Amino acid sequence: MNDRLREVVVLGGGSAGWLVAGLLAAEHPDLRITLIESTDVPTIGVGEGTWPSMRDTLRRIGLSEPEFIRRCQVSFKQGSRFDGWARGGAGSDGDRYYHPFMLPVGYGDVDLVQPWLATQGQRPFADVVSPSVQVCEAGRAPKQVQTPDFAAVANYAYHFDAGLFGQMLREHAVAKLGVHHVIDHVEAVLSFENGDIAALRTREHGEIKADLFIDCSGLTSRLIGQHFGVPLKSEREALFNDAALPVQVPYATPDAPLASVTVATAWAKGWIWDIGLPSRRGVGCVYSRDHASDDEAHAALTAYLDATGAPAERPTPRSIRFDPGYREQFWVRNCVAIGLASGFIEPLEASALALVELSAQRLCDELPMTRASMEAVARRFNDDFSYRWARVIDFLKLHYALSQRDDSDYWRAHRDPATWPERLRELLPQWQMRAPARHDFGRIDEVFPSASYQYVLYGMGFRPDAESLPAAKLQAAQACFDEAARQARRFVPGLPGHRSLLDHIHKTET
Ligand SMILES: Cc1cc2nc3c(=O)[nH]c(=O)nc-3n(C[C@H](O)[C@H](O)[C@H](O)COP(=O)(O)OP(=O)(O)OC[C@H]3O[C@@H](n4cnc5c(N)ncnc54)[C@H](O)[C@@H]3O)c2cc1C
Repeated sequence: MNDRLREVVVLGGGSAGWLVAGLLAAEHPDLRITLIESTDVPTIGVGEGTWPSMRDTLRRIGLSEPEFIRRCQVSFKQGSRFDGWARGGAGSDGDRYYHPFMLPVGYGDVDLVQPWLATQGQRPFADVVSPSVQVCEAGRAPKQVQTPDFAAVANYAYHFDAGLFGQMLREHAVAKLGVHHVIDHVEAVLSFENGDIAALRTREHGEIKADLFIDCSGLTSRLIGQHFGVPLKSEREALFNDAALPVQVPYATPDAPLASVTVATAWAKGWIWDIGLPSRRGVGCVYSRDHASDDEAHAALTAYLDATGAPAERPTPRSIRFDPGYREQFWVRNCVAIGLASGFIEPLEASALALVELSAQRLCDELPMTRASMEAVARRFNDDFSYRWARVIDFLKLHYALSQRDDSDYWRAHRDPATWPERLRELLPQWQMRAPARHDFGRIDEVFPSASYQYVLYGMGFRPDAESLPAAKLQAAQACFDEAARQARRFVPGLPGHRSLLDHIHKTET
């Protein structure tokens, strides 16, 4: 690599490749960025649930929010709802909880958990500490017509059509940000003597050189996995799911209610996601092939679609297999892996695109401008992202570890502490005595804050040991509960319906 970083090649034109290329081009206009994608290797095309961080990412790339909403079949996502995870009742017996994006009122300043238990423990935790559940259940949008682009009344992310999203990112990156787009298949990787990648040899465009290579080649992990041989750290022991059957289905009627949460419904050997876009639903069954056959998963998906009113005429679900885990290193020499090339764990809580955003932002913020400065940046990148993947695994496992379901070996194995990550084994007994707190998660930019742990812990029915509370503590918490209730009373009538806000945005095309 020349002394100064000038040329970057992004290998892969899925959501990861275009997000990275877009962000790099927007924030480093002096770089020459080339994105290579192959027509022989399709994109995965199923990542349709995001985190609120996506608002900032799109803004940084320079996209217009209303245009994005109009072009990508966008709906607003205010969190996730979990049906049937604690006892298997799928909602009818109250086995349902929310993990909203809104933090509890008073979060970090006031201890809410013991006062909630002492005064209103019969009501779900999320309902008491935030207005979000009421907003979602009333079918409200998270903002008003006049709320500025990317700003929120209630915190929100997006659901979107992954294919349309990739297309929009590509057009923007090429036309507005000057990214060079090469459609070709990479057949070989050429190296310098020191092991750095010198160029990628393509079928028709010859050798494409660069100083830095970003591997966004999806599950094939063409550079970090195949070329550098960095092993995948398997997480199968903790998170067994390794297959998915996604399908897109229309609504029974065009004006059917549009959920503004991702609904995750547990079944005997896995779970089913349900993402509502304005004109269709994206539904998929996630399962472990060690515990369920493909036919069983197919039958569970069919039963769910029947029960939720999907029309009988349906496309055949695709079949996706994956190895749950992440690479032992993400940045090797002059190559960084981002997206599926760096790892994948089941889509519960939709953390994959959020990790892509975090990786792309880190790359932009700390871009090493010379080869000599790359090693130190790479070391920190590897440490930080190994830490983040490990925290994602802890948090996802929490959803399973506390389940009381006893209808299969799948749930019994998830409950077995031998399958829990070490940190979760250490923290759960502590949370028996106190609530998850900020100091349990030491970094400022933790992927899941302690508030997320509280929502899932108490949503799953976990209860800390009761303690008698001083009046001052109760009073401070009660003020927060009152404020959450006041916000709910204001937001529910004051916010437009979810569909009606989207219709308005579609109609106001300029
Ligand atoms: C079942 C499932 C559900 C998911 N749900 C969510 C969700 O709700 N939320 C979320 O955040 N994430 C989700 N994800 C993850 C999400 O889909 C991905 O993180 C995201 O789409 C990024 O994928 P990618 O760009 O890394 O890979 P891909 O989309 O697979 O793109 C790979 C690219 O590399 C190119 N390529 C590969 N090899 C070569 C070669 N030799 N030469 C040239 N080009 C090459 C391909 O042509 C393609 O363009 C889900 C994943 C799965 C499997």
